[in-house]
Amino acid sequence: MTSRKELEARRLGEAARIRLALNSMRTEAREKVKGGPGTIAFVKEELCIGCDQCTIVCDDDAIELYDTPLASPILDIDVNRKAKILRDPCTGCRLCVLACPTDAIIMIDR
Ligand code: SF4
Ligand code: SF4
Repeated sequence: MTSRKELEARRLGEAARIRLALNSMRTEAREKVKGGPGTIAFVKEELCIGCDQCTIVCDDDAIELYDTPLASPILDIDVNRKAKILRDPCTGCRLCVLACPTDAIIMIDR
């Protein structure tokens, strides 16, 4: 029978394996996303949940959140927030794309 210690060791091993796989996927994803001075971030409004992650990672103050009515018949919340990219300060660094949990941000040509 598997002992508690063996189970813990197996779990730690699995956690390390999953962490490695996720890190490698993230690096791969970063390489695939185009970026640079000729590009600008763009928010697909319908996917944005207003979580604020993108504004935290953006070093250039190029993202603002604005209020919008929440179109939900089941939640009693008046407004939701959405992110909006400010064209001039955006440097095309792609950090917001990688930080967004809903893949709401894409990079487009300027
Ligand atoms: S691409 Fe970089 S500079 Fe532009 S909005 Fe995203 S994090 Fe900010
Ligand atoms: S990280 Fe994505 S979902 Fe969150 S506010 Fe920014 S664009 Fe919206």
